[in-house]
Amino acid sequence: MMRTLKERESFTKGLTPRQVAEIEACTQCGECLRYCPVQEVTKRREIAPASKIRMYRDFIKRTESLKAILFGDEVDCGLLEEFTRAVFECTTCGACGQFCPVGIDTQRLWPALRREMVRRGLGPIGPQVEIPDNILRTGNPYGLPAGDRFRWRPELSLPAEAEFGYYAGCTGAYQATPMVRGDLLVLKAVGLEFTMLSEEEEVCCGFPLFITGQHEILAETVRKVVEAFSLRQIRYLVSSCPCCVNMMTKDWPYLYGGPLPFKILHISQVVAPRLKGLSLRHYRRRLIYHDPCYLSRGMGIIQEPRQILRAIPGVELVEFDRHGRESRCCGAGGAARKVFHENAIGIARLSIDEAIQKGAERLVLSCPACYEKVNEALEGYDKQIEVVDIMELIADLIGVEG
Ligand code: SF4
Ligand code: SF4
Repeated sequence: MMRTLKERESFTKGLTPRQVAEIEACTQCGECLRYCPVQEVTKRREIAPASKIRMYRDFIKRTESLKAILFGDEVDCGLLEEFTRAVFECTTCGACGQFCPVGIDTQRLWPALRREMVRRGLGPIGPQVEIPDNILRTGNPYGLPAGDRFRWRPELSLPAEAEFGYYAGCTGAYQATPMVRGDLLVLKAVGLEFTMLSEEEEVCCGFPLFITGQHEILAETVRKVVEAFSLRQIRYLVSSCPCCVNMMTKDWPYLYGGPLPFKILHISQVVAPRLKGLSLRHYRRRLIYHDPCYLSRGMGIIQEPRQILRAIPGVELVEFDRHGRESRCCGAGGAARKVFHENAIGIARLSIDEAIQKGAERLVLSCPACYEKVNEALEGYDKQIEVVDIMELIADLIGVEG
């Protein structure tokens, strides 16, 4: 097949020197294969991290090696399409990187390679293409009315300016409302003075754009949120969404063009040190906590959610075989949950099965995408377990009325 000029463009230009070195360094040992949740449910070898890296190396070799420059070479279009599907089918959970003996940071590498495919007009896939326009029109990637963003919000009187700002995030605000409602009730109950933006001001954090490789309006989207919170004089920005917190911490500073005027905190980092003043009801249950990939592997936030759960009198906390930094994805990551729905449901059910097998009575989550997908995976499934978000649970045990 004839190649277009775009396909012959450099495959390394948009990558960092570290990422180029990572692609070269992969030994093809296959260690990562054992931990890939997509591979686990699809059994398709081309999804495997080693296969993706091998394909990408081939693209580099055929466009940038001395032989290719001197004598010309061709990129296999079929391979390009196969690679695009594989890299977009990945949940970007980063488990492969966690177990990689070479230390390849795959949670950052895959989004960079997705961006390269978008530059060539091969990605994004399916409804992902609507994300930028939806954000421009409505402020959220789902295209839902901005006026509905805070419909779940309890009656609270919030100051216009405060030391802390709370950011709900699009997935929580539209698809996991008990979670963000719980956030606000708990923040209030621990005595935190905080402010929020209006429904129109709080727009997407940019993660869906970043993760699908669609960067055109990314910096502009980020700037809107940073400037709006700056005007509220905040010193700390708090969110419960692992993807938002990850994006704000790692990518907002370079997209904003310098250090942020406030620090980013995950809600568990704010609540854990303030739990002492609260009186939690006795709750004799065996709980299992699922670490969200972007919170545990991505941010190293592992102990704070457990500290919160252990503070509940009567609770027994059990663990998944793979937990903390080694946690298995819930299936909802990487903006793949709506495109590769069957994979996401299959992966979510692996966690449901293990939670039940461990004798847990409730599966505690801490991510809006996990919340939405695990609840969906329970529909029509013959195994059932109660699912709850960590702040939804704490709000319930404090007995706070909204
Ligand atoms: S574990 Fe690392 S080095 Fe080994 S195949 Fe996977 S990505 Fe490559
Ligand atoms: S990031 Fe997760 S889903 Fe993607 S290849 Fe690695 S282990 Fe598989």
